[in-house]
Amino acid sequence: MSQLLQAQVAEIFACLDVALPPTEAEAPGDSLLHSRTPIDGSLLACVAQTPRAEMEASVRRLAARQRDWAAWPAPRRGELLRRWGLLLREHKPELGLLVTLETGKILQEGLGEVQEMIDICDYAVGLSRQLFGRVIASERPEHKMRESWQPYGICGVISAFNFPVAVWAWNAAIALVCGNALVWKPSHRTPLCALAVHGLLHRVLADAEPDWSAVSALWLGHSDAGRFLVEHPDIRLVSATGSTAMGREVALACAPRFKRTILELGGNNAALVCASADLDLALRAVLFAAVGTAGQRCTTLRRAFIHESIYQPFVARLKQAWASVTVGDPRAPATLVGPLIDGAAFDAMQRALDECRALGNRVSGGERLLQQDFPGAHYVRPALVETDAQHAVMLRETFAPILYLCPFRELDEAIALNNAASHGLSSAIFTDSLHEAERFTSEQGSDCGIVNVNLGTSGAEIGGAFGGEKDTGGGRESGSDAWKSYMRRVTSTVNWGQGLPLAQGIRFEL
Ligand code: NAD
Repeated sequence: MSQLLQAQVAEIFACLDVALPPTEAEAPGDSLLHSRTPIDGSLLACVAQTPRAEMEASVRRLAARQRDWAAWPAPRRGELLRRWGLLLREHKPELGLLVTLETGKILQEGLGEVQEMIDICDYAVGLSRQLFGRVIASERPEHKMRESWQPYGICGVISAFNFPVAVWAWNAAIALVCGNALVWKPSHRTPLCALAVHGLLHRVLADAEPDWSAVSALWLGHSDAGRFLVEHPDIRLVSATGSTAMGREVALACAPRFKRTILELGGNNAALVCASADLDLALRAVLFAAVGTAGQRCTTLRRAFIHESIYQPFVARLKQAWASVTVGDPRAPATLVGPLIDGAAFDAMQRALDECRALGNRVSGGERLLQQDFPGAHYVRPALVETDAQHAVMLRETFAPILYLCPFRELDEAIALNNAASHGLSSAIFTDSLHEAERFTSEQGSDCGIVNVNLGTSGAEIGGAFGGEKDTGGGRESGSDAWKSYMRRVTSTVNWGQGLPLAQGIRFEL
């Protein structure tokens, strides 16, 4: 299928009017990234890695434009994001398909990811006229205190394979509208998605008057390119999305340089299904959250705590649903679960399931599918694991569709199980009890950054601030006031009188 898919990629790039990446013939072998589709494991394209000298040069270009970009009025910066959003709208079908080809997520989710980019552009346009500060009452007579927000400087964005365009767009749209230049190091697994969407942004910036194309750069490479970004002294803010292990390294490298970080790391998300829950609704929500994106979302539902009074019938329904989910080519409309990203993800899933079996847990699903049709790919039946206690394996993030099921008796016991994970990204409760819903969302409830009632753990909207606590890194991106992370807070006091009264009533006279 390789040639067919390569032709499809070429068609997409032609339609976007973005230059196709250099081919193998044009770049030496060890400087290439190999973009493989998880659909059948075949090669989509070879893409040149960004050489170190070019990274250095691009930071110099970013630095040269940073002051002017910061001084360009925010609503005009917003206008450029509006134009980028229009281009994304126009090319949503091709971009959605490209996301599907490179990540293996089903087409509906590929299109959804592009929609997220469009939504954040709209949001950034509105924000461009709302970067509000405030005026604060001064204790000194004839003084005025005000707080304003100013551009922070060059921002570096590192992104993960599973959201190859949306996560960068959350950062890019907000960082740019806040007046910052930007460099992006995407996952080495998804260089084509990066080239496509950055190419469209670049066109908008280059067509502007003046030409702003030098305020955004793209670096293709492995983790060493990410390290270079983190360590570069001129990059003042690092927004990194990926595993907790990566985030630890980034945090340690940024700390001695006092660099600002926005860390969006792993998740190990749970849902509580209470006795009063609408079980039809809970079933649909649990299914999407656990098996959507083949269990490869940071917000994927991995642990379900189910009230003992409904445990048996609910688990029976889950098993039925799991057995009937269509697994297959993510481009086919009937498919709900596409392939895993690679063989390493499959092996990690099998190791976790073996560990569960060794503990005496009952495992259903998890087997490899479609091996004859797609020998180079890794399709699996999503797995359910029935257990009566929370074991160590459940407290790890295994990036695959495994849902652990465990009964509970008291609400507070289930809240403690939810909070026992070292990650703190997303959580959900299914209940018709106001008491249970409010307790779970209160300070006595879930300790996560996202706490939902009667919907699953995944599928956040861009209007809210996205992120989580503990091993998830503590960063917040996207909506609400997350934009403040990309700006410098300035407190200015203006003395408009003739005297010089000091704060705290201090007297200091000659
Ligand atoms: P990963 O950690 O392997 O890689 C993520 C990115 O970090 C890549 O671009 C990689 O090249 C770079 N990188 C790795 N080590 C680095 C280092 N030391 N310094 C600088 N850059 C480095 O993650 P992945 O396998 O691509 O993605 C899956 C993980 O990402 C999961 O843990 C998932 O939960 C997490 N994730 C989190 C969010 C969120 O918003 N919280 C969103 C998507 C994915």
